Amino acid sequence: MVGGRPIAAQQNQGPAPPPRNPSPANMPLQTLQEMFVQFPLPRGQEAYADIDGRHMHQYVVEQANISRKYRDAGHPRFWGRIIGTSADAEDVDWMIAKFKAAGLTNVHSQPFDLVPQWFPESWEVTITGNGLTISLESAQPDYGAVGTPGGALDLEAVYAGLGSEADFAGKSVHGKAVIVFSMLGAPDENAVRRADAKGAAAILEVNMLPGNARYQAYPSGTKAPAFTVGHDDGVAVRDIIAAMPAGQPARLKMKLDVRRVPNLKTAQIWGTLPGATDETIYIMAHRDGWFDASGDNGGGVASMLGLAEHYAKIPQAQRKRTMTFIALDGHHNSGEGSAVGNKWLADNRQKLFAKTALAINIEHPSTVQTQSRPRYYNANEIVWGNTYMPLQWYAGGTSRPELEKIAVSAFKQFGATIDLYPSPTPPASDMGAFYRFVPGIDFSEYHHYFHTDLETPQTVPWTGLEAATRAFAKIIDEVNKLPLSAFQQPEEPARTGR
Ligand SMILES: [Zn+2]
Repeated sequence: MVGGRPIAAQQNQGPAPPPRNPSPANMPLQTLQEMFVQFPLPRGQEAYADIDGRHMHQYVVEQANISRKYRDAGHPRFWGRIIGTSADAEDVDWMIAKFKAAGLTNVHSQPFDLVPQWFPESWEVTITGNGLTISLESAQPDYGAVGTPGGALDLEAVYAGLGSEADFAGKSVHGKAVIVFSMLGAPDENAVRRADAKGAAAILEVNMLPGNARYQAYPSGTKAPAFTVGHDDGVAVRDIIAAMPAGQPARLKMKLDVRRVPNLKTAQIWGTLPGATDETIYIMAHRDGWFDASGDNGGGVASMLGLAEHYAKIPQAQRKRTMTFIALDGHHNSGEGSAVGNKWLADNRQKLFAKTALAINIEHPSTVQTQSRPRYYNANEIVWGNTYMPLQWYAGGTSRPELEKIAVSAFKQFGATIDLYPSPTPPASDMGAFYRFVPGIDFSEYHHYFHTDLETPQTVPWTGLEAATRAFAKIIDEVNKLPLSAFQQPEEPARTGR
């Protein structure tokens, strides 16, 4: 999806932009995969050779295909492995089959009822001015956005820069459509909420990354309908506003039909590898996600399956602890009534985690390394490197130095790149509900393609899957050399700010 679609011919728009390289997000997989740098298996670590990145990557592709099937069945703009949908149900079946094929026992689905789920049924956002009407194809309603039940809004469009207080100074935005720009990497100006507080009737938040990706945002919680918009569409809106004569503002039309669908269900899937003792290790990964959801979290599920297959080949007597694998329902249906599986686990923590030596939550373990530096690269594009991004990580925190030491050493040994310093609490993830009472390892990555329609299987290097998953296995094996008492400790108090 590139570029806003001009309804009227665009003329006199200045020199043509430099040509773009074709987006690697849709490059033939084989070609791309040959370009990535593989970290060699360290000598003496042959026990991990069977954890194969190319093999695990096939699971990323299979999950993306579940998403695309849903997209192609009449959901062209709000699609993915979305909780409560037919894609969720298909993913449950897929997960069960994969757990069984891996050799897990007691594979079963634990169903959950959902509160009515939000679905945007259809929408249209256009800007008119300067003799042009442009349909903003990249416009995507923020999750949970309110609709426009009275029909299309037709509003004066106001440009409000980065949406800071200074950007709004001297501007009247009450009852108008406000356009703000927001850049990953810059502090969050809270621009969308600020526009809402000032009485905006509609809000567009432009994603400043090169290109025109659709970005599915978490709830903005605004009274006015809020959309994200890709960079190309956002610039087109801005330039139309700029070209208007005084007293003749550009007009933004916005129509959004949403509904809340009751009586939907989701599930989390369980599988077990019994060990030599009743002490436990948990491996979890959420199944849901938007669009192809390859980084978030097709890669996490693939890595979990890689671990299941690896440990299933080891005789039970040699597996010190019982391993439980959980494919979580997920959390992208944010807000009240979301993450029901995660909540159930936290509510049952005394029973589940009394003898747990380790819990690994696998989220976004492999993401292609990218840079965006439009001034210094030839074209307006996100540039891909031939390797994976370092992970933001947490490994038990300062109160479990042994676990942190094991994790850092394993990541380094197998070439799973990480941030120099750990995150004081788990990165935003499903581990947030557990880490205070479970020896937990968690990491994540949220780079340029996160939650966009360009988060294809190509954005998940097989090399990163391989490095990270081998490191997780090493961590498990090292943890298994130590007694439960090395990791178990009383529940930590809740911290403020999370
Ligand atoms: Zn995730």
